[in-house]
Amino acid sequence: MRNRLFLSLIVWWLVASLGAQTPDFLINRERMTETFLALVKIDSGNENEGEIGRYLMERLRALGADSVEMDEVHKQIGGDGGNVIARFKGTTNAPPLLLNAHMDTVSPTPNIQVVRDGERIRTDGSTILGADNKAGIAIILEVLQTLRERNLPHPPLEVVFTIREEKGLQGAKALAPRKLGAKHGLVVDGREIPEEIFVQSPTHWRFEVVFNGRASHAGAEPEKGRNAIVMASKAIAQMSWGRIDPDTSANVGVIEGGQAMNIVPDRVKLVGEFRSFDPERVKALAEKWKAVCEQVAQEHEGTAEVTLTKTFDAVRTAPDSPLAQTALKVMRQLGVEARLTRTGGGSDANVFAGFGIDCLVFPTGAADIHSNQENLILPNFYLCGEGILRIVMEWAGRSS
Ligand SMILES: [Zn+2]
Repeated sequence: MRNRLFLSLIVWWLVASLGAQTPDFLINRERMTETFLALVKIDSGNENEGEIGRYLMERLRALGADSVEMDEVHKQIGGDGGNVIARFKGTTNAPPLLLNAHMDTVSPTPNIQVVRDGERIRTDGSTILGADNKAGIAIILEVLQTLRERNLPHPPLEVVFTIREEKGLQGAKALAPRKLGAKHGLVVDGREIPEEIFVQSPTHWRFEVVFNGRASHAGAEPEKGRNAIVMASKAIAQMSWGRIDPDTSANVGVIEGGQAMNIVPDRVKLVGEFRSFDPERVKALAEKWKAVCEQVAQEHEGTAEVTLTKTFDAVRTAPDSPLAQTALKVMRQLGVEARLTRTGGGSDANVFAGFGIDCLVFPTGAADIHSNQENLILPNFYLCGEGILRIVMEWAGRSS
């Protein structure tokens, strides 16, 4: 009798504790890890995304995509393969959703030795791992596979795997916007913790300034010289650099010029950047800098050639946007109190924002990226994958 009471107490406790737990995972965690490891084996760190692109096209076809194509942007920007774009019909008429990750990685990548270290995957320390962004690709593939084999509801999906993200978002920038119909997207290329979902990232401008003066002998005829280094220094001194306000930063990153101790330098080149979450602010700042350079050069009887290039647009997804709210809700159901936050870095989301697509930059579990210490935190990787699957399922219920 006492034994039976004890047993029923255990059963009660088991049921109660299970009830309090987060829902079971629908994705297959082991399979997602296997996919990740298979992707890591394909080198894509040297403008060579052709092989991984063809591998992904095959996987996408096997997952039942309606169309799979590789575009030809590599013919303009170099490399041996273009962006991969696949479409999947929805099970509902919900608005289409873009799912994106990039295929390229930073280097070094030769002979990657993968080490399983408890709940993390890392390398032996002599190369990067490539979790940025192969973790994102593995998540998207696992989401597609789970939807298919479990017959889960989903909206029409546009899957875009880009090339050359790490080299200034080149692949996404070269992509023809008409190929995309989605107005909402998940860029699966965020950070290591499932709590951090990015809804904002800055507008970025790059500048290059060449000050032209006149060379002369520094001792014999300094009067004849027009010192380009002095011009550059005076221009730099008239501006603020570093963090200018909570939204805005500025940096002079490169200064090159001069030939010798005794020659008045006739040429100096500066390269730098401005970033701001406020697109107007950063544009005004870049224009002010141009005016300052030209003014100072003129005062010294020289010239300034100022080149300003907007590298990418800001991501400005409203925190109350349906996709952001869906993401928060889904993560809460998974026991994660996520927050909508912002990053100073760029991603393909910045390009898609310029196409008019509202994007979230969703985490992947990849930590210490862009270093040989890069690693993938498996529990986080799984949570992010499950989160994306459930966002997609939830989005299927929206009316278009
Ligand atoms: Zn990345």
